[in-house]
Amino acid sequence: MYIVMVASECAPVAKAGGLGDVVQGLSHELAIRGNAVEIILPKYDAIRYDKLWDLQKTYSDLWVPFHDQWIHCDVYFGFGHGLKCFLIEPHSNHNFFARGQLYGDGDDSERFGFFSRAALEFLLKSGKQPDIIHCHDWQTGLVPVLLYETYQGLGLSHPRVCYTLHNVGHQGVTGEHVLRQAGLSPQALITPERLMDQGQAGAVNLMKGGIVYSNFVTTVSPRYAGEIRYTDLGHGLQHILGVHGEKFGGVLNGLDYNVWNPETDEHIPHRYGLDALAEKFKNKEALRHRLLMRDEFKPIISVVSRLDRQKGSALIKHAVHYALSNHCQFVLLGAASEAAINAEFWALKHQLNDHPDCHLEIGYDEELAHLIYAGSDMIVIPSIYEPCGLTQMIAMKYGVVPIVRNTGGLADTVHDANYSDKEFRDRNGYVFQDYTEGALESAMGRAIGLWHRFPDYFRQLRLNGMRCDYSWNHPGEHYLNIYRHIAA
Ligand code: ADP
Repeated sequence: MYIVMVASECAPVAKAGGLGDVVQGLSHELAIRGNAVEIILPKYDAIRYDKLWDLQKTYSDLWVPFHDQWIHCDVYFGFGHGLKCFLIEPHSNHNFFARGQLYGDGDDSERFGFFSRAALEFLLKSGKQPDIIHCHDWQTGLVPVLLYETYQGLGLSHPRVCYTLHNVGHQGVTGEHVLRQAGLSPQALITPERLMDQGQAGAVNLMKGGIVYSNFVTTVSPRYAGEIRYTDLGHGLQHILGVHGEKFGGVLNGLDYNVWNPETDEHIPHRYGLDALAEKFKNKEALRHRLLMRDEFKPIISVVSRLDRQKGSALIKHAVHYALSNHCQFVLLGAASEAAINAEFWALKHQLNDHPDCHLEIGYDEELAHLIYAGSDMIVIPSIYEPCGLTQMIAMKYGVVPIVRNTGGLADTVHDANYSDKEFRDRNGYVFQDYTEGALESAMGRAIGLWHRFPDYFRQLRLNGMRCDYSWNHPGEHYLNIYRHIAA
């Protein structure tokens, strides 16, 4: 099959979170199964040029309609981790993708609305007719809308669209000007069955557009699929997901074990696997030395996360204090996009600056993330909601025991050491229910207690996690079945 991914992220070239990992991992899996896969991305100034190989301008005559003007774009081609990437660079004084960061500007919906149209214009003008266009999250919600409303009529008649919801907490709710800029009719589209936001009458919901106009809609774990269809976690999309329930399902994300594998990871000083777990502890030493923490007989508990409310930022702070007062060390790597949360974590960092058992690294650091997974014993993920979550799956592969809240993909992948109904060999972490300090403490307390008092059991739990198969193998097959189904 010929598959084109249209996305705002693809690791390692442009990544802000799990979306980037998923686009990269799924594309890689589809490619090794013999499919032709291409990825269309914005050419951000913040792109990792060091991760792109053989970058060159491939198309320089792309003119994309925008309101009543045309914006000239260049398209570059390069290989990111062996994947074929096309990068669209518009030339206008809007500087859509020259913002120093991927997201966070007031005109994000205009920026990605433009990108959606540019991607289709590029497919049309370059004569590409993929079997499948797979787009992701609100940023590319306009792709299926534009395909059916505009581009099919212009000749892009072959592709079918799969649309994946990575996080319905961000839906791209915006004004009708985003439709006008793309040449779409607000009158025709802002209706309850189409793009009208369910919360704000008259507002445009780009993610809803993606749901309505795609041939198939997925989300990133079975549990989250149920949560967004039937509970408040749908953030208002429950009704439209019900209407389109026949073409909606959850597929658990996979992990790319070419990237996330302690046996081959080039970012860690000592490689290890199930048979050489002792090597892991040299990484623990390396982590301590890198972060200037003392060598003590204590477990290292970590957090690698965007720092925002969804990720349970309030409980993350509590976890730091609880760990430090219960004979543990703590390492945090996180970036906050919200100023208030950023300030809170900087204040905590200053407060704990001289603590020999703690290091808080505020920012985004791909390489340090690998060392943290390799060097820690436990990881805390107290999310309010979690569509899938990759960190717990990465952690397990690295022999780190996850302590998670019972929600979304965390619930689908982590099985409690004490209370799961699974056999012991399938238990791999600690799970708590309520979003409270007490519930978090009880799960952390159980994990820390096991580490100190029953190291053999703790080791077993690590090994159980390392043995789990969260590769793209099954989800890759699942997506191919969906593609075949909608292409038929
Ligand atoms: P989300 O996509 O909601 O941010 P996921 O758990 O699905 O969460 O994916 C998070 C990914 O981003 C993981 O690969 C994790 O290692 C990485 N990550 C998160 N925060 C940082 C950070 N500050 N520095 C480096 N990597 C990070």
